[in-house]
Amino acid sequence: MSVSQLARSIKESPTLKLNETAARLRDKGEPVIHLGGGEPKSKAPIDAVVNCATQLNTGDVKYAPADGLLSLKKAIIRYMEDHYHKVVAPENVVVSSGAKQSIMVLLYAILEPKDEVIFPAPYWVSYPEMVKLAGGVPVVVTPEDGTFQPTVAEIAEVVGPYTKAIILNSPNNPCGVMYTRDFIAEMVELCEKKNLYLIMDDLYNRLVFEGKIPPNSYDFARDHTDHSKLVVVQGVSKMYAMTGFRIGWAVVNRELAEAMTNIQSHQTSGPATPSQWAAVGALNGVQSGVESLRLTLENNRNIMVERLRAFDGVQITKPDGTFYCFPDFSAYEKNSQKLAEFLLEKVRVVTVPGKEFGMDGHLRLSFCGTIKDVTEGIERIQWALDPNAPNELYLGERKLVRDWL
Ligand code: PMP
Repeated sequence: MSVSQLARSIKESPTLKLNETAARLRDKGEPVIHLGGGEPKSKAPIDAVVNCATQLNTGDVKYAPADGLLSLKKAIIRYMEDHYHKVVAPENVVVSSGAKQSIMVLLYAILEPKDEVIFPAPYWVSYPEMVKLAGGVPVVVTPEDGTFQPTVAEIAEVVGPYTKAIILNSPNNPCGVMYTRDFIAEMVELCEKKNLYLIMDDLYNRLVFEGKIPPNSYDFARDHTDHSKLVVVQGVSKMYAMTGFRIGWAVVNRELAEAMTNIQSHQTSGPATPSQWAAVGALNGVQSGVESLRLTLENNRNIMVERLRAFDGVQITKPDGTFYCFPDFSAYEKNSQKLAEFLLEKVRVVTVPGKEFGMDGHLRLSFCGTIKDVTEGIERIQWALDPNAPNELYLGERKLVRDWL
């Protein structure tokens, strides 16, 4: 079999692969704890289900416009007014099959071959591969001070003649850190000055803890014309726990919206119509589910952070939002791939190696599962790594005796 050079340059999604591994082990009856997941446990909002089911019952399920149903765009426009105080027109909104496709189509629409796209590490696993798929070159900026907060100077330093866009994801997958208001303000200013696209991947910005308020990038923009290169990407996956529906959107200038729509029309003809009905239901319906999910996650985060802090040698930055944290385990093992494999093999805990997010030595641990998953998962990791932990551990019925420390 021969596949293209492009195909050979693209890695498989490590998170989706881990889901498969975990499912396979569970099917065999193994007591797997999945701390690698990227989706909340809660159910889709009832308004989403009812709106979708009602329309499905008519049996009339047809193509929708490539850039999304008008009823969904209207709901998104209201969302943008409520949460960003930003008035946009239907022509500024492109609905896609998940925020993943929003970013992909956007990159296809803006990148010339070899154009560069900058993003800070740690970064969402898909950014480098998406940029490469669109013919561009990913440029990663790793904060020098060892924190997860890059400085504007570090980013400005790598801006060059080929730079086309900067992607910021805040709060961030995998570390949960929310970039500061000053940083976002200066990044908006830098991008306007250098005429760059600033892509704000805001997918997690409703899942923020302790009353912190995510900076609104539009507040700092000077260019409010329809030539603005500020892009906001959002979606229903995380805040409404609707990952399987695959609905995301981008708010962009009209010219870019048209280009993205043309590309999307040849890729998928637009997102599945029933999923769009569900998204309309979620956006127009009762919103209390978002807050209860946020509260649950904040509680889970507190438990995970507290347990990790009891662990000698693990460095942990408390997440401001999302459902991930990204502790530094390098005191135990610098190779995160090896460490993740070891934990899966010895104690059946799924984690995601930090290497995939551009920072080896770390593991991404999700706290979107149950409290039991969080406490037992960390207990097992501690048992596997910490010489001070008791020598025996029960995995379900099975008694393990540690013989490797
Ligand atoms: N951006 C980030 C930072 C993400 O973590 C994800 C999902 N893991 C996405 C975008 C894509 O989300 P979806 O396609 O499900 O809307």
